[in-house]
Parts: sequence; structure tokens; C-alpha cells
Amino acid sequence: MTFRNCERQAPLNTNDEAGSHPRGPRSGPHVVLLGVGYVSVWAYRALRRSLGDQVHITVVAPVDAHSYHGWTGEVLSGELPPEAQRSPIAEALPAAAHVRGWARRVDRDRRTVEVECADGATVTVTYDHLVVGIGSTEDVSSVPGLQEHGFRLRHLGQAGALAAHLDQCVAEAARSSYDRSTSLTVVVAGGGLAGVESSIAVSQRLAAATGAPTGSAGGPRVVLVSSRAELAQELREGGRELVRQALRRNGVEVLTGTRVVEVAADGVKLDDGLWIPAHTTLATVGNRVMPLPGLDDLPVDDRGRWIADRNLQVAQDVWAAGDAAVVPLKSGAPAPVDAGWAIGEGGWVGDNIARVIRGKQQKPFGFKSIGVAAGFGQRSGVLEAWGIAYRGRTAWFSRMLFFLYYMPSREQAKRVYRMLRAKSGD
Ligand SMILES: Cc1cc2nc3c(=O)[nH]c(=O)nc-3n(C[C@H](O)[C@H](O)[C@H](O)COP(=O)(O)OP(=O)(O)OC[C@H]3O[C@@H](n4cnc5c(N)ncnc54)[C@H](O)[C@@H]3O)c2cc1C
Repeated sequence: MTFRNCERQAPLNTNDEAGSHPRGPRSGPHVVLLGVGYVSVWAYRALRRSLGDQVHITVVAPVDAHSYHGWTGEVLSGELPPEAQRSPIAEALPAAAHVRGWARRVDRDRRTVEVECADGATVTVTYDHLVVGIGSTEDVSSVPGLQEHGFRLRHLGQAGALAAHLDQCVAEAARSSYDRSTSLTVVVAGGGLAGVESSIAVSQRLAAATGAPTGSAGGPRVVLVSSRAELAQELREGGRELVRQALRRNGVEVLTGTRVVEVAADGVKLDDGLWIPAHTTLATVGNRVMPLPGLDDLPVDDRGRWIADRNLQVAQDVWAAGDAAVVPLKSGAPAPVDAGWAIGEGGWVGDNIARVIRGKQQKPFGFKSIGVAAGFGQRSGVLEAWGIAYRGRTAWFSRMLFFLYYMPSREQAKRVYRMLRAKSGD
């Protein structure tokens, strides 16, 4: 089989045989990275650091760029344009071949991955080591109508699409007073950090566009609905209190202990029967991992995440990390799920594969995350780093520095820095 039907981006291309590397006939081991998220980028970096050109790396992903979720709030509020989230593969993983498509099946006996390309063609990629970093996706099937009518934020371009839709809603509201309040109402389903940050950012965008504070009479309305009693469980109590204050300051209505049970184009129904007329629903509900045939016989948890061992392996020559995996800490508890941990786990996987290739023993997972951060726009936020909570401008500024430092591409980080400066007029 050949790659000819599959858009394939690589620095050089001298051999079209499936499983080969674009640098020519393969002599060294071949590592295939599924997905271009944090796991894959940091696994790539670790492999290149340890093995340089002695390892061949191919990334299989349906997109040509990494999506930087950290800037979601900034894109929604209008502080950054949607392209700030895009780090091209060519910059982030410059020495890797890219097979553009979805991994659809793994054959562990033959060590191959079947990839479905955009044009429907299938190609087969062979591996010596496979890294499963396919992340997870919002479980929109859990609520009728959410799949059809809910906006999502995880994939490249989705935050930009929501921002454009909100601008359209504001324009519609300005054109006709009929339906004005429905056009200017947004329901956010899901009270984790992503839901909280998005509610605040959406509130700021709508308030700036309409000239009326969110929550004021005749102004925009943003309702955050959480089935849990407590919001932003990723933070400690001090951080959660700052979250509550930021939501109040931005006029976001909060409904906790309540479920969205139905979503339509013109509104949302809650489990107590309340109907909220709204033209926009945002799904930041819990996540699930899409099953991958060929790995579906391996142990998973109730969200479909592969259960990794202490070396982050899930099967012979197969590793999994990030949102797609349950990674055990030394204590036995599962590692938290966020970008910082995905970065640490991806790097650990890369190092362990390099050890295996060199004939050394793997190291059990021992990464420690710096902490968690949330941005509330307007130069405020919360940062919990090394057990200490920071707030306000200090938190906002430190978060910006961390996020720029951890962007997958230096070039993109510089571009984003320039965008931020241009916006703030510094
Ligand atoms: C809106 C939002 C905001 C967030 N904000 C923060 C934050 O501020 N701080 C923080 O620490 N964390 C944040 N997170 C969480 C963080 O982004 C995730 O924990 C992190 O992305 C996990 O990294 P990953 O590499 O496992 O997966 P991802 O980064 O999701 O990457 C998965 C990749 O796999 C690809 N893929 C999927 N299926 C296939 C397939 N079958 N074949 C090939 N490729 C496939 C996808 O296209 C993607 O490239 C946020 C998440 C969201 C959704």
C-alpha cells in the first residue's frame, strides 16, 4: 500500500512505501505518534533529545497543527484571534513525517495502524513503538440535542467558530428586538475550569460588543449550569472562591446541582423543567475517549481511558498518556487530567521509549506538575503553583509566561506574544 491517496506532509519524501520514513528507506526504529496534542509534541521532543536522527518519527493526525487549549478564554473574549491556538506541525515537530488522517485500527501482531485519510482512502503505517495520544472528546451523546446544537472547544477552529457565532448573535439582536434576549443568551453546560473560563470570556465578549454589562436589564445573559454542587474542582477551596468572585463580577448566573437534559436550536431544558431560551449552548461537559479497534481489548475505565502501567505502557510496544489514559502516580491514585500532566506524561513516554531502544530499563512515572491556572480576562486570574495560590495580576502575568513558554512552537509563541502586545497597546 502507498501513501499516495493521503495528504502527507514531511520535510523530505524519497520513499512512498507504507511505514517508511520520508528521509528514505528506514534503518532505525520507527515511532508512530497518534494525535498532535501535548502528549505527542512532548514525546517527540524527548525522543529527539535522546536519539536525534537515530529515530524515525511519524505523527498521524487529522489536522496540520496543534490546538493550544490554554488560549481558549482569550480567543472567546476577543483578546487573541483564533489563529493564536494553531501551532503548525511543521514548526512543532519539524523532523517528523505527518500522515494526515484518523487512526482507525491498530494491529498489534503486525504492528500497523490503519489511517483513514480525508479523501476516504486508507493507508497502513507500520511502527516499532506506538504512542496513543488521541486525547478525549466532550461526551455530547449524554444529552439529547447537544451533539447537533452544542458548540465545542477542543478541536482546532472550534473556539473561533463560537466567537464568530456570538458576533452574529449580537448583530441579529441589534437588527431586531424580537428574539433579542434569546440571541444574547448563552448557556454553558459543565462547571469544570474550561466551563468557568469560557463563561467569563463569553460574558466579556458580549458585554464589549453590546455595550451592556452581562446580567444587566436588557443586556447579555450567560448561564453556567453544573451538575456538581461545586465548580472548578480542579482548584483548591481558595482558588474556587476566586472563581466564584470572578463569575459574579462578570455577571454570570450560576446554577449548580442541576443538569441540562435537552438542547434545541432555541433553548435548553434543565432537569427541574426550567426552559432557558438561548441561541447558543456551549458543551464543556465530561469527556470520553473514542475507542480504537485493535486496542479495545485492553483495560479501560468508565470514560474509555486506557489504563497504563507505571511505565505508561498499555501493551507490548504501545504507550498511552494524557487525556486518553489513566496514569498511576506512585501513590496509586490516577494523575490529574490537564495540559501540564499531558506534557509531563508525553515527555516521560518519549524518554521510556528511548530507554527501550537503547536497551536500558524503563523508569516508572515520577513527574510532578507545577500547578493549575485559570484566566479571568482583564488581567486577572488564579494560579496554584507548588501549593501556593496567587491571584489577580500576578496570577494573570505568571500564567501568560507559563503558557507562552509551553507553546509547542517557539515561532508561534513569539507570534502570540506580539498579538498580546498589539492588543494591550504596550
Ligand atoms: C476548552 C479547553 C480548555 C482547556 N484549558 C486548559 C488550561 O487552561 N490548562 C490546562 O492545563 N489544561 C487545559 N485543558 C485541558 C488540556 O487541554 C488537555 O488535558 C490536554 O489537551 C490533553 O492533551 P492530550 O495530548 O492528551 O490530547 P489533546 O491535546 O486533546 O490532543 C489529541 C490529539 O489527537 C488527535 N486525534 C484524536 N483522535 C485521533 C485519531 N483517531 N487519530 C489520530 N489523531 C487523533 C486530535 O486531533 C488531537 O490532535 C483545556 C481543555 C479544553 C477542552
